[in-house]
Amino acid sequence: MKYKSTRGSKNLMSSAQAIIKGIAEDRGLYVPERIPELGIDISKLRGLDYRQVASHVLPKFLDDFTEEELKHCIYNAYDSKFEAEEVVPVKKGNDAYFIELYHGKTAAFKDMALSILPYLLTTAMKKEKEDKKIAILTATSGDTGKAALEGFADVPNTEIIVFFPNKGVSQVQARQMVTQEGKNTHVFAIEGNFDDAQSGVKKIFNDSDIADELAKKGYKLSSANSINIGRLVPQVVYYVWSYVKLLEEGVINPGDKINITVPTGNFGNILAAYYAKKMGIPVNKLICASNKNKVLTDFFNTGVYDINREFYLTSSPSMDILISSNLERLLYHLSGENGEEVSKLMTSLEKDKRYEVSDKIKEGLSDFYGGFADEEETMETIGKMYKEHGYLIDTHTAVGYKVYQDYKKQTGDQTPTVIAATASAYKFADSVAGAIGLGKEEDGFKYINSLHKETGVRIPSGLKDLEQKEIIHKTVLEKEQMASAVIKVLK
Ligand SMILES: *Cc1c(COP(=O)(O)O)cnc(C)c1O
Repeated sequence: MKYKSTRGSKNLMSSAQAIIKGIAEDRGLYVPERIPELGIDISKLRGLDYRQVASHVLPKFLDDFTEEELKHCIYNAYDSKFEAEEVVPVKKGNDAYFIELYHGKTAAFKDMALSILPYLLTTAMKKEKEDKKIAILTATSGDTGKAALEGFADVPNTEIIVFFPNKGVSQVQARQMVTQEGKNTHVFAIEGNFDDAQSGVKKIFNDSDIADELAKKGYKLSSANSINIGRLVPQVVYYVWSYVKLLEEGVINPGDKINITVPTGNFGNILAAYYAKKMGIPVNKLICASNKNKVLTDFFNTGVYDINREFYLTSSPSMDILISSNLERLLYHLSGENGEEVSKLMTSLEKDKRYEVSDKIKEGLSDFYGGFADEEETMETIGKMYKEHGYLIDTHTAVGYKVYQDYKKQTGDQTPTVIAATASAYKFADSVAGAIGLGKEEDGFKYINSLHKETGVRIPSGLKDLEQKEIIHKTVLEKEQMASAVIKVLK
């Protein structure tokens, strides 16, 4: 299995090389040259644990890794640092099945991929006899940053540098990052939003002068954002897993279709669901849920991607994104792998801040349904789900559930539906506490305790003593200072 760029470069890479590079030299994203088949009757996966299911799925995409290498990565990643015995429990909440992806160290679904990425990357470096240190650059809308920091802290021969929007993350998210320990961790707040952070990081990647300067110092840049194929592929596993869980529980029979709903920001998580479908998992609709920043909703309804619009800070900050990077991969697949066409679309996004896709791509969009929830709807959804069904969801998951309700109303579709539950409610405790009618607290962190008192839901251990932790990373940068900050910390 080789990987190629979405922008047409003819260079093929092994998965190990693609993981090390992160982004292709023509600025495209790596995609597998074909999406592999699951290659086993899915009902045979019944009874396996999460690691065993991962051991079936990952080799299909990462076939240059040996079985032993992948086992090493999988069993070190998905161990007792996940606070749920099943790693990923699938739970019923009213009329949907929630794939709880947030039982890792940082209480958001990013842990699913970022707890294995450091193992994949260090294994890849060994395989490729990489002699440089890898510096991971990451822009975060809140959750990736902390998950990447936890994953890479003190991993030999790596440095991890995270940029987050100063006003664009929740109080808990910010505190998680600025208290990060580890000699190789570097965290910067920037004056700007997530798109600024992401554009800044992409610019650094594309600057050959910076690359030369860092090479002299013995560094090579890579990415922990979902543009790295090493992040995307581990996310396919839990969609396969959720299908197996519904089989085990008798909700579906082998061959029955399911819908998958994903609260979406950078389009990575839902792209993994699309890959699961292409591998052969019976999927009816992929339901793409946005918050008030509903670029993707409009795109799925019109074929026009237009970021000439106001940017909103919402209670689901990890979805406050206008430029969804991974959509580029979908466009590539739907265009019949036309790198030139994708290149043109991406250029017009940069220049005109919009593009319209061809009729051929529009046709392919019918696998998806796009919808959005505004702030009020999100809060109502959390309140109702808790009060009427006793199930606690966070602000992001609530966006997903609300859009699923709209989808059902519009289509009458009764297909069993899984929803990616992407964060613990405690991570957005202030919003969630408000939504279920708890009183106001003077200090944001107190909401964690009041939420616990009301619901009895276990507090993720990473969030328990956060308030007392020492703040280590204090620098706030203008977005123009990102490149020089990188050069400065990589000594
Ligand atoms: C990152 C994130 C999302 C969005 O996922 P994408 O892969 O960027 O689409 C949704 N919810 C939470 C809690 C997240 O951290």
